[in-house]
Amino acid sequence: MAGLYAWLAAGGVVVLLVAIMLLGPTRTCRGTPLGAAHRALTIGIPSALRRVALFILRPTGVAALYRLWRWIGYEKNPLTQLFFLTLVTGGATIFFTNVEDKLPNPVLGGYHWWGMLVSILFVYVVFIAASVSDPGFITRANHASAMQQYLYDHIMFFPTECSTCHLIKPARSKHCSMCRHCIAHVDHHCIWINNCVGQKNHWLFLLFLVSVLWLSVYGACVALGTVVGTMVHYGWASWDSALRFYSGKYIGPRIVRYEAPWSDGLAMALALEPLLTVLGLFLAFCALLMTAFLALHLYTTVLRGKSTHEGNKWSDVQYAIDEGQVFLTEDGKGNVYLTDDQSKPRSEQPLRNVYHRGIVQNFKDLVCPGKLTDAEVEPDRALLVPTAVAAAALPSETATTATATLAGQGSKKAKKRAR
Ligand SMILES: [Zn+2]
Ligand SMILES: [Zn+2]
Repeated sequence: MAGLYAWLAAGGVVVLLVAIMLLGPTRTCRGTPLGAAHRALTIGIPSALRRVALFILRPTGVAALYRLWRWIGYEKNPLTQLFFLTLVTGGATIFFTNVEDKLPNPVLGGYHWWGMLVSILFVYVVFIAASVSDPGFITRANHASAMQQYLYDHIMFFPTECSTCHLIKPARSKHCSMCRHCIAHVDHHCIWINNCVGQKNHWLFLLFLVSVLWLSVYGACVALGTVVGTMVHYGWASWDSALRFYSGKYIGPRIVRYEAPWSDGLAMALALEPLLTVLGLFLAFCALLMTAFLALHLYTTVLRGKSTHEGNKWSDVQYAIDEGQVFLTEDGKGNVYLTDDQSKPRSEQPLRNVYHRGIVQNFKDLVCPGKLTDAEVEPDRALLVPTAVAAAALPSETATTATATLAGQGSKKAKKRAR
């Protein structure tokens, strides 16, 4: 009963907080307790906390705390990598210390001990390789080569200069503020490997996902198989054509065995091998998550021909078009591009992803990408658009106005989302 009251109280607090945050700032609630509560929550309490923090930590302490916050949330840091390594190492430790002499068993052969060792080592190797790999950093030396990889679609990508690298951004590239570089054919910045995923290391990222998925599936099977093997050994389960659990009760002086439901089997497994059972269930859960993530990633990149970054950019373009801020027009040579110049005629052509070149080619683009080769460059040569790309480039004002509108849309949309 006490539990029920606690849940009711927690629910009441949540409803009250939502009411304060929604209704408190409205004109109608000005001067009411709701308005006062909103002011206290958004102005009074934060400023009091700031004063307390300043008093305890002094300005230098508060500045250090702010820097720490920035480092955790916005800068390249190894925290998620350490978390991943802790999970893998912790799981491996639980597995090898608990499995000891339980392999081989009636369910699994002894070679699975080695199978697990190789699978874990493989994950470590791929994880380290992906973490330290070059995702396709665009430098002055390889810039000309990067510009030749893809043509501008003038819908998502325009020939504009990166304000940090001072290089023309190649089509499908993006500047990563964490890696402090423009990345060729970028997918996204992955906090798990603390590195960008781009043209040169996308294959490694896929291998990393597959290796973790394999370890999750195989690890779940071996951990739970070992638990079942132990149960079979003690007579609490049987493993022939199907898995069955047994329980027993005293009838008179004798224990009578009877078939138990799965829930009883799980309870027995948890009592007999708590750590291996929890590890196996956790890995099964990870396997589901990894399958969903890998499927979604392959759907976007291979089936739709978009990087993760482009997937987000497409929704910005669609939003800007739906809002009437930009529209498609043609240059007279059949090239379609995005513009916000209302005097231009509207194109009847549908919005099309020119980088989607069929499932096989999209997959090849990820696993066997074009080479980024270094070339001798004169100091300012990299700022120029190479001839092949310039031929396909449209008037630069198109690029600047449409990019500015899209950038505006992106931030407006973000603000709208935040609201
Ligand atoms: Zn850049
Ligand atoms: Zn990055």
